[in-house]
Amino acid sequence: MPKTLHFIFGDQLSLNLSSLHHFDKNHDVILMCEVMKEATYVLHHPKKIAFIFSAMRHFVLELQGLGYEVDYVKLDDEKNSGSFEGELQRAISRHNPQKIIITEPSEYRVLEEVLKWQESYKIPVEILDDERFLCSKIEFRKWAKNKKELRLEFFYREMRKKYKILVDADLKPLAGRWNFDAENRKTPKSGMKSPKRISHKKDNITLEVLDLVAKKFPQNFGDLLPFHFAVTRKEALIEAQHFIDELLPNFGDYQDAMVADEAYLYHSLLSCYINIGLIVPLEICKMAENSYHQKKAPINAVEGFIRQILGWREYVRGVYWLYMPQYLENNFFNATRALPEFYWGEKTAMFCLKEVVNQTKIHSYSHHIQRLMITGNFALLAGLNPKKVHEWYLAVYADAFDWVEVPNTIGMALHADGGIMASKPYAASAKYISKMSNFCKSCKFDPDEIIGENACPFNSLYWNFMKQNESRLKSNQRLKFVYPTWYKMKEEKREEILKTAKKYLEKLENNQL
Ligand SMILES: Cc1cc2nc3c(=O)[nH]c(=O)nc-3n(C[C@H](O)[C@H](O)[C@H](O)COP(=O)(O)OP(=O)(O)OC[C@H]3O[C@@H](n4cnc5c(N)ncnc54)[C@H](O)[C@@H]3O)c2cc1C
Ligand code: SF4
Repeated sequence: MPKTLHFIFGDQLSLNLSSLHHFDKNHDVILMCEVMKEATYVLHHPKKIAFIFSAMRHFVLELQGLGYEVDYVKLDDEKNSGSFEGELQRAISRHNPQKIIITEPSEYRVLEEVLKWQESYKIPVEILDDERFLCSKIEFRKWAKNKKELRLEFFYREMRKKYKILVDADLKPLAGRWNFDAENRKTPKSGMKSPKRISHKKDNITLEVLDLVAKKFPQNFGDLLPFHFAVTRKEALIEAQHFIDELLPNFGDYQDAMVADEAYLYHSLLSCYINIGLIVPLEICKMAENSYHQKKAPINAVEGFIRQILGWREYVRGVYWLYMPQYLENNFFNATRALPEFYWGEKTAMFCLKEVVNQTKIHSYSHHIQRLMITGNFALLAGLNPKKVHEWYLAVYADAFDWVEVPNTIGMALHADGGIMASKPYAASAKYISKMSNFCKSCKFDPDEIIGENACPFNSLYWNFMKQNESRLKSNQRLKFVYPTWYKMKEEKREEILKTAKKYLEKLENNQL
């Protein structure tokens, strides 16, 4: 029998991976490698690098225990060439395979590379679908075809019906509605604390990886320690069960709440495990659904959680593959400002930004509303360059991979795609932040002031953004109250607001905000 080489990437750590269905244990070999090119194409958070390398090394042990032959190249292997192509070339010389099989890479950048392999190495390369996703690229393309605009809500309903999740025998939504979002916006209670989270024991493999990352990436933004991540499927499932039992019941109510020093609240922290394959999306949706049937969690929590995975996660992947590579070039507002230094931990007087960046630095995590309504909202209002903002999000979060980060940043947070992802920009003033968080209480700025020495920068920047982009936004039905409100203000007030915004933008340019 001819020998086949199975190339497995670092976010493909699933035993049910499509390429493994074709593995012949008598002849075939798996290639996995840690390469510098992948570890450095943006300045990844050290926790993210350690998490992925440790999970890869543990996955190899699991595969070997099941009788798979694995050729694994560590980052500090003397002969490591530093790139996928280089490692593939070396593996071809070692194993002389007749064929290469891979499950399609999740990112456009890597797929482009893979598509050259057959020509370069003169060996057939078979690329299989990634069946871990619940909507294939072709299926999404079909769904999107001939639609004037794409909207999550309709896609999500189709997915609920397809997988028969939270629907009755007639495919009608359980509890009478498809969406309980309106109930998921409770403000944080005073003194609210995040329930205790699991910290997984670090074995010798993880300790070795932590040592490697500390030595090789000393300059990267972010704290390597403490390191609490699950690095095996078994540990990730413990984490998932803990979420379902202890946190899911409150997930919906406090989904949008933000609290200082409490990075996690009731969020699942599962994205990083799902994204590298330790947990598959359908199993966690089923776990949540069971919790509803067993009356352990209310419908608003369960539906809200399932919508994020069965809906948003699949939807953003569909958008990514439909529009890449052009999608990354979008810049609807022609935003050009450089990323301020405080995104990398330098000083800022804006407490909300300081807090979210600090949580990011410590945990390589912040929850969705913090990403969208604090760092994302500020980037939108201040006109930061979308590509620079994208590089930041891709670098700093442990769950960040191009396919999911790009649509969320370019589309959802910055509206740089002009409305493909969302029907209006998520632009908000301090009113939203002060309602949904306790941040403003610790801030030198006043969230209720628009002009004056202590006025919160978000307020004047909000109006400045709306004014600057009036021609692009005034016909947007979802913003129909914005411009009448602006023009109802006295002209002097409007001028003052724009002057205040200008002053803050100048301070921002000088890294003094
Ligand atoms: C600017 C920006 C950048 C983002 N970058 C990433 C990224 O690089 N990787 C990433 O996985 N998510 C990203 N998100 C989406 C979301 O913020 C994270 O998935 C979520 O915060 C992860 O934390 P959690 O596991 O505790 O999520 P929970 O709040 O517990 O949600 C449950 C799950 O739903 C899924 N999910 C929720 N929202 C989204 C969404 N908008 N898109 C895709 N999946 C979603 C995730 O798998 C998540 O684990 C980004 C959002 C924004 C606004
Ligand atoms: S007052 Fe403004 S800058 Fe300060 S925390 Fe609130 S929203 Fe942020």
